[in-house]
Amino acid sequence: MIKVKKRRVLLLPGDGIGPEVIAEVKKVINWFNEKKSLDFEIDEDLVGGISFDKHGTPLTDEVFYKALESAVIMLGAVGGPKWDGVEFSKKPERALLKLRKELKLFANLRPAICFEQLVNASTLKPEIVSGLDILIVRELTGGVYFGEPRGIKPIENGERKGVNTHTYTSNEIIRVARVAFDLAKKRSNRVISCEKSNVMEAGQLWKEEVQSLHDKDYKDVELSHMLADNCAMQLVRNPKQFDVILTDNLFGDMLSDEASMLTGSLGLLPSASLGAKNKDGEMRAMYEPIHGSAPDIAGKGVANPIASILSFAMALRYSLDLDKEAEALEKAVQQALNDGLRTKDIMSDKMKEVSTSQMGDAIISKLQ
Ligand code: NAD
Repeated sequence: MIKVKKRRVLLLPGDGIGPEVIAEVKKVINWFNEKKSLDFEIDEDLVGGISFDKHGTPLTDEVFYKALESAVIMLGAVGGPKWDGVEFSKKPERALLKLRKELKLFANLRPAICFEQLVNASTLKPEIVSGLDILIVRELTGGVYFGEPRGIKPIENGERKGVNTHTYTSNEIIRVARVAFDLAKKRSNRVISCEKSNVMEAGQLWKEEVQSLHDKDYKDVELSHMLADNCAMQLVRNPKQFDVILTDNLFGDMLSDEASMLTGSLGLLPSASLGAKNKDGEMRAMYEPIHGSAPDIAGKGVANPIASILSFAMALRYSLDLDKEAEALEKAVQQALNDGLRTKDIMSDKMKEVSTSQMGDAIISKLQ
């Protein structure tokens, strides 16, 4: 059994803008090490397309072993058109799915918070998004992205058939629902669970298990159920009705991208993927911005590093028990925005456009 090293942070920048945004996270970690004497041990390695180019695989055994040893994995992003033609099992995204699955990171937390300074960056009217604070808890290691059988097969009439299987067990549902209920208690105490119980048996099981866990252990939390397609509609109609949204892997993928646009830019939203704590209280976890490798802007120095920096704030809070430091970092981000600094994706009238590294430096200067 490989032990988790308490202060070990593994940086996996990946592809596209990944290295640009993770470079800013590295500066933040170094600042905490130098100024606050926090003894983070940083390691860095390849993942995704860049790993495929060098080693013929998007995730080497060596990097996987390092991931097993690390309390925190900070991932940038993987993928891009360069690897479109690569065989499916070697695609950059397979590295991510393997890390999530093998490290058993079953609970994906995706906050969607609308910063007051950026209310106008949303495509929705300010009154709809102002004060928005949603937490999406997405199941991450089950459902249709992992279910078997899967594949593309020839069928009799010369056509081909693509197959993916959507499955959930009771335990897979209950453990992620527990995370959602526990987090709701620290917020506005409301969970809306989303599935398609009207047309999918796995959705029906999801609804029943969430309800029975609620009735057994979380009667004090307000629970309601919503069909996932209705949730997609309600998110743009009246997003402030939501506190915690609990949902499966596939619907969570889509609903969280939708929620991200309520806040203005993909470049602002962090995420945490958490495993279960073992009997020694150790937990494996991976933190990453919710955006991808953004090949359209890679190498230009314009990527917004805030999502990655806020992902590290989540790591401070959930993996390292450093709540005060997490708050300080989140506040530093707010202050940089208060000063009118904006990367290109969130730029608006009368604000000052800054590069990726200038935004990182500004946030660090606010930490001083
Ligand atoms: P994307 O998130 O990379 O980009 C979508 C749009 O948002 C682009 O216009 C991009 O410029 C912009 N954007 C994203 N992050 C930004 C940031 N930090 N600052 C400013 N603008 C930002 O999604 P996509 O274009 O659909 O995917 C590109 C590649 O990334 C694909 O290969 C995809 O598979 C991969 N991907 C990886 C992850 C991951 O590593 N977790 C997630 C999603 C997509």
